[in-house]
Amino acid sequence: MVLPWLALPLLVLLALYPPTAPWSERFLTPLVAAGSGLYLLRRRENLPWGLGLLLWGVGDLVGALEDLAASPRSLLWESPYLAGYLALTYALWRLPPRPPRLTLGLLPLGLLALLHPELGMDRLYVAWDALLLLLLLPRLEGLFQERFQPGLALLGVGVLLVLVADLAYGYLEAMGGYPTGHPLHLLYTLGYLLLALGVEGRNVPTFPALALALGGLFLLPAVMAKDPVPFALRLLALYGGLAGALGLLYALHLEWRRTEERGRRWTRFLEALARLSPRVTQTLSPEGVLLGVLEAAQELLPQAVGLELRARGSLVGERAPHLLPVPLNGDAAYLHLRTPPEEPVPPGFLALLGERLRQVLRQAEWGAMAYTDPLTGLFNRRGLEVELPKLLALSRRYRAPVSVVMLDIDRFKAVNDTYGHPVGDEVLRRLGRILKQSVRKEDLAVRYGGEEFLLVLFGAEREAAKEVVERIRERFRSERVAPIPYPLTLSAGIAGGEVPEGRETLEEWILKADYALLRAKETGRDRVTLA
Ligand code: GH3
Ligand code: MG
Ligand code: MG
Repeated sequence: MVLPWLALPLLVLLALYPPTAPWSERFLTPLVAAGSGLYLLRRRENLPWGLGLLLWGVGDLVGALEDLAASPRSLLWESPYLAGYLALTYALWRLPPRPPRLTLGLLPLGLLALLHPELGMDRLYVAWDALLLLLLLPRLEGLFQERFQPGLALLGVGVLLVLVADLAYGYLEAMGGYPTGHPLHLLYTLGYLLLALGVEGRNVPTFPALALALGGLFLLPAVMAKDPVPFALRLLALYGGLAGALGLLYALHLEWRRTEERGRRWTRFLEALARLSPRVTQTLSPEGVLLGVLEAAQELLPQAVGLELRARGSLVGERAPHLLPVPLNGDAAYLHLRTPPEEPVPPGFLALLGERLRQVLRQAEWGAMAYTDPLTGLFNRRGLEVELPKLLALSRRYRAPVSVVMLDIDRFKAVNDTYGHPVGDEVLRRLGRILKQSVRKEDLAVRYGGEEFLLVLFGAEREAAKEVVERIRERFRSERVAPIPYPLTLSAGIAGGEVPEGRETLEEWILKADYALLRAKETGRDRVTLA
């Protein structure tokens, strides 16, 4: 990378003080071409480019020596040129192709070359140059897609400079010989250097690359304006310079817009990640968390349609053919993508997503732990504190009535005293399961005290609440717990059944339900009393 950069100050000097001595055009340009070629040959994948430049450099050197010896040109001496053309044609051909569009307008130039019989051998070169231009230009349209490629911009400008200079050279030679002192060799030299820089530097920083490329493009018409280049070529140089410069600026504008859009997407992604919060529910499932994380991921990767947590067997959204692993220490999470990502996914994106997913899952687990009674899996008093305001808000928004039920197992002390605490615990667990299965997901089932349970039933008037409680009593009675030989019963008190005014109303209803429960106990147990 360093070598071509070092050559640039030299080039600036050359541009400021163009050497008119024949040695400069005879030897400097070929040496730069051969040197750049050798430089590129260090890497296997650059072989065609390196070989092409090296052969052209050698061809020019041979030509210079020949000129000095004033010997006639022979096919043997031309062979490095021809081989160089083949290598460069192959190298250009290998660049990702685009369908030719505007570039077809250049076709007549190549044909024009055939009409000049005086060009001799150069007729072939001029036509070949035009063909290479045709290969090159559509491939530069890659600059307007996906992401700005500084390397491609440099390479494109480099090849353009060399080809236009070569076209001009062919014509100049045919029209009475190449005039000494013509700055054409500057175009060649800069072209070779930019080409080598572009081929080598896939990671050239955008702005220096752009400045160099624009400089080359402006130099093109400036050099070609000098007599006695044919009018058609000057037009071509003007077209190449102007259209190229405008195209580059437009490509940069597009890249800038894409960068802005990418920035906005990142902001939305980070905001969505920050907003993520665990939703505590009575049946802890990571689905809510996964859904939030998937929605955040979609801000950056709209083609993400599903998120899967393999170890827990949970999936939200859909399965899709393309999987993207999200690091989640130990566990494996996968984003399902409908189509592969257009750009490489920044590594920070997946790491961030995984880290946040892990955090929120753990938060959900801890939240569930803090708000859940471990024996029965129902909410504890703390869980009730957190959930009650949500239920209240929901009920007031939809004008839905709420009933409050207080339940207590009958003569539970006797169970503990006779069969021991573990059996008592099993009875509590059993009732917990029955309660959980008997209420809907908007309802709250709470272990209120030792063996006292509170139900807050959403959308239930008293009669509906009574039905629910009767079903619970029925099931509790019928499910025997070994080794207790007799059926267990429970008593309940119901209050409320209207739309609560506020939190105080609900608390009042809880007291009233407790009072009703007391009356159920006093009047013989195994019954439901309305407050
Ligand atoms: P009543 O019909 O009047 O309700 O009679 P009871 O015997 O059920 O009386 P009470 O409701 O006052 O009984 C509370 C008993 O619940 C006392 C305690 O031993 C038992 N208990 C409370 N928490 C637990 C627990 O976590 N595990 C077990 N095994 N027993 C518990
Ligand atoms: Mg009791
Ligand atoms: Mg009790």
